[in-house]
Amino acid sequence: MEIIRAIGAMREVAGRARANGQRIGFVPTMGWLHEGHTSLIGLARECTDLVVVSIFVNPTQFGPEEDFERYPRDLERDAVLAREAGCDVLFVPDGGEMYPEGYATYVYVEGLSDLLCGERRPGHFRGVATVVAKLLNIVQPQCAVFGQKDAQQSVIIRRMVKDLDMDVEIVIGPTVREKNGVAVSSRNMYLSGDERVQASALYRSLVTAKKMIEAGERDVAAIVAAMRQMIESQPAARVDYISIVDSETLKEVTRLDGEVLIALAVWFGKARLIDNMVFTIENKKGKG
Ligand code: AMP
Repeated sequence: MEIIRAIGAMREVAGRARANGQRIGFVPTMGWLHEGHTSLIGLARECTDLVVVSIFVNPTQFGPEEDFERYPRDLERDAVLAREAGCDVLFVPDGGEMYPEGYATYVYVEGLSDLLCGERRPGHFRGVATVVAKLLNIVQPQCAVFGQKDAQQSVIIRRMVKDLDMDVEIVIGPTVREKNGVAVSSRNMYLSGDERVQASALYRSLVTAKKMIEAGERDVAAIVAAMRQMIESQPAARVDYISIVDSETLKEVTRLDGEVLIALAVWFGKARLIDNMVFTIENKKGKG
């Protein structure tokens, strides 16, 4: 596995691979790799010849009060995990390489970026879309893999790729969970042992929502209330939001029909955890 730090060198390696007829698969990450990331690397491996993984803790997607400084970083550890998962090239640019002096261009996906997590984290998705656009331009992969865990991010990236006519297939990998249902996340390292146990209520609340829907419940407020009650019964939990939205527009729904996304964000101590599930609801059509 090769480790590349400069944009020019990354372009060269990717350009050579494309010239040789190789398909490039790309997995952008912020490092502190875990089973969620390695599952995406595995997916990229399956459908391409050269797997590029980037590690870049992107400053433009962190708010001033957020955890940019203390976000976990360990390149040595990440390099071992990436190689074992099937990565060929690890791209690790630094801040100056990605945002040199005079940097002034940002990508903002209207309509989708200020809802849900975007409402609580102003500028976050502008930073995400910008860095992903830059990375896709540098690596120019045929296929880029993202995780369902960050559902809103996936929707925004898909929109951006479509709107900007970027020639890349976006693949979304399923959320990888710990045994107790907690979605694996780099930020789980902020949790105490007890908070980690309590955090399993997030997944349980999503499973409860699933059961309610399967049993015929169509009242959005009733489902959200049941989820909130389950989560708030954990003493360390502070609910940021629980929303049921259209899976494409991310707008709140009043009626459960078609494909909906149940998304939530909850604080446990210093960690803000997110999770979600997608449901397809087919209501029987009434007569007339
Ligand atoms: P991050 O390093 O947190 O920016 O995440 C990099 C990529 O890994 C994103 O596409 C995430 O959606 C994805 N990811 C993070 N956690 C998980 C998980 N538990 N399961 C699947 N994908 C994940």
